[in-house]
Amino acid sequence: MEGIVTESNLSTLKRTVRSLVKDHVYPVDRNGVQFSDEITKELQQKGKQSGLWLMGTKKELGGAGLSFYDRSVLFEEQVQHRFGLSKPAGLAFGNDLPSFLEKCTSEQVDKFIKPAVQSGNGCFVGVWEEIENNNIGQLVTTATKEGDYWVINGEKSYVANVDKANFGVVLAHCIHENEVKPTLFIINKDESIIVKDTMLIDVQKVSQLTFNSYKLHDSQRIGDVGEGVSLINQWLTESQLEIAAKCIGIGKKALNLGIDYAKLRITRGKPLAEFPTIRTMIARSATELESARQLVGSAAKKLDEHDRNAFTLVAMAKLHATEVASKIIDNIFQIHGGMGFSGDAPLERWYKELRILRLNYIGSETLIEQIALHYFE
Ligand SMILES: Cc1cc2nc3c(=O)[nH]c(=O)nc-3n(C[C@H](O)[C@H](O)[C@H](O)COP(=O)(O)OP(=O)(O)OC[C@H]3O[C@@H](n4cnc5c(N)ncnc54)[C@H](O)[C@@H]3O)c2cc1C
Repeated sequence: MEGIVTESNLSTLKRTVRSLVKDHVYPVDRNGVQFSDEITKELQQKGKQSGLWLMGTKKELGGAGLSFYDRSVLFEEQVQHRFGLSKPAGLAFGNDLPSFLEKCTSEQVDKFIKPAVQSGNGCFVGVWEEIENNNIGQLVTTATKEGDYWVINGEKSYVANVDKANFGVVLAHCIHENEVKPTLFIINKDESIIVKDTMLIDVQKVSQLTFNSYKLHDSQRIGDVGEGVSLINQWLTESQLEIAAKCIGIGKKALNLGIDYAKLRITRGKPLAEFPTIRTMIARSATELESARQLVGSAAKKLDEHDRNAFTLVAMAKLHATEVASKIIDNIFQIHGGMGFSGDAPLERWYKELRILRLNYIGSETLIEQIALHYFE
């Protein structure tokens, strides 16, 4: 179990994160203005001083090495602002690196990981492809061996963080001794990779990457030939837990906005908070939020304990937390009436981003299949 901290230490860390968000992040993004590079740098100075820089990145790689449980609790605090889902705490604590990078050689750590730990810009991970059978084991990007080199051909779609990342990781099927073996490679951001950007519902930039006979030295391979699927599944599990934890924070903030507004807004002679239908929306939202929080917490603990059921619990947590947060935002929009769409409220941004999260990494329908498989296999 990595870096688990005591309950009282965790409360202290929560307070640290909460006050950083309240004092330094909230005043900036309350106005709906994206963080400039200068502001991000200032925030990151504070994040580094707090000892929580790259919370989830292993200590060996230069991060804080917190457990999944601790991180999930701290995510709830980090995201409670307008840009919180995509830039938790205004990226004050940097972009974490996937744990499969522990497999990197010391040469790879020096060349790729150390600069990313320093900058906090993270990496991008190119897995998915726009092919008929979008299944990790059946992708079509290939890596063909030529002496000490691999030649990559193929396209990766919807890759996030390409513009900011220090380096990338790509999954390709190695054609090796007449066998096809999915393998990870670490890559530079290189001009010979063709990058085409797209904005999704005007809130999330993703890129399509095209590799045309792109040559990599064998020293850029991560782990063994054929180890790619298990390493990527590990990344998907961690990323999905992160999304689920973020949803709890957004759900909580939205619920509080709804409660405050219901007390404040007088219509037809009394505050909204006195209307039974409004009270039901709040009560149901609070109940579902708490159920999702418990599920995220127990999935995180199972992941820390390397429990064999962790994979299924994380699937449940991502499915449930994304749906609950979406439903809460929908309710809180309804409570706000026309005000919900005004530039002052962050609801519109959260609504759009949550919609994307129900598809990102593994879509809800596939998660349902995975959960069902656990019970029927
Ligand atoms: C914002 C964003 C960021 C992303 N970032 C990255 C990234 O950094 N790196 C990367 O590699 N990829 C990334 N992706 C890709 C993402 O993981 C895929 O979009 C996702 O896995 C869905 O694949 P697809 O788009 O091909 O949908 P499809 O596989 O075509 O699925 C379409 C729909 O059918 C549903 N479906 C699929 N199978 C079944 C089934 N058996 N039964 C019923 N319904 C089913 C899906 O849930 C979905 O709703 C990102 C996507 C988004 C939206």
